[in-house]
Amino acid sequence: MGERRIPERTCIACRARGPKGSFVRIVRTPEGRVAFDPTGREAGRGAYLHPGCLDRAERSGALARALRTPLGRAEAARLMTDVRAAPAPPPERSGVSA
Ligand SMILES: [Zn+2]
Repeated sequence: MGERRIPERTCIACRARGPKGSFVRIVRTPEGRVAFDPTGREAGRGAYLHPGCLDRAERSGALARALRTPLGRAEAARLMTDVRAAPAPPPERSGVSA
């Protein structure tokens, strides 16, 4: 009986670990654009964080550090809008029914 392991990620803002599905991915594309990555598959340098931690990550500079690029206020505000507009990710299939 193979219990499937759920990939874990660490939030760049609060450093809490959790299943990948509870985080949003922000990516810095090879072109240098910073974007919300709802698919989690964009090429580039990615940073994972809780949707509610985005503001904190931006204020503390954690997001800019994780992406290794300066992040403007306007860019951060746009990210927050995009993340909040996105539907909640579907729960990870763990084989356990609630
Ligand atoms: Zn967090």
